[in-house]
Amino acid sequence: METRLSKRLGAVASYVQKGSRLADVGSDHAYLPLFLVENGIIDYAVAGEVVQGPYQSALTNVVQAGKEELIQVRLANGLAAIESSDRIDTITIAGMGGRLIADILESDRDKLEKVKRLILQPNNREDELRIWLEAHGFQIVAEEMVTENQKFYEILVVEAGTMELTPLEQRFGPYLLQEKSTDFLAKWQTELGKLTQSLEKIPAQHQEDIRLLQDKISAIKEVLDVS
Ligand code: SAM
Repeated sequence: METRLSKRLGAVASYVQKGSRLADVGSDHAYLPLFLVENGIIDYAVAGEVVQGPYQSALTNVVQAGKEELIQVRLANGLAAIESSDRIDTITIAGMGGRLIADILESDRDKLEKVKRLILQPNNREDELRIWLEAHGFQIVAEEMVTENQKFYEILVVEAGTMELTPLEQRFGPYLLQEKSTDFLAKWQTELGKLTQSLEKIPAQHQEDIRLLQDKISAIKEVLDVS
């Protein structure tokens, strides 16, 4: 049976260029590389997984699909799944926190030298990931926000290069901020509601927490153009 992707993973897959040699880090069931191989978009991938259970699921799915010649499933931590003979030029890392994605990239920087494109889908702390990318010779070339099951997901398409982001761009994403799509506005309206509720609950003596939250709230209001 052909692999079907969720809307979120489908959006990640749409940024993988035809003929890429892909490493999908944190591949879980290997759905992403399987979908790309089955649809003729790529013919070589490494599916890396650090946890035994998801690694076994990935391996079983790849073998059942008869794609073990084209998709190498490896039990490995982060970019350690990649070997130089793989000639990987594209890396996807999806469904993890932004801090963890930055840590994975940081811990094996030499593996990134020949990579042309990173497609990253952090579940949170997107600003920390953008700050890491900006400081380490990467530029964002596209961004997309998708919603699925009432959750908002940001996708960052990244290539080697430089960028200088303002604090608002680090937080909200340079392209997302420019576009201000319906999903983007919905995400930050929701976040504004949550933060406003949290602010009401913070005891008055926690001045530092109150100030931090107020700063976050004013940044969102500025972006949404509300007072
Ligand atoms: N990428 C898939 C997706 O977006 O649907 C799976 C996301 S799942 C929530 C995160 C996966 O990343 C888990 O299977 C977890 O074991 C794996 N993972 C977490 N840290 C990792 C690391 N350092 N190296 C490789 N895999 C990792």
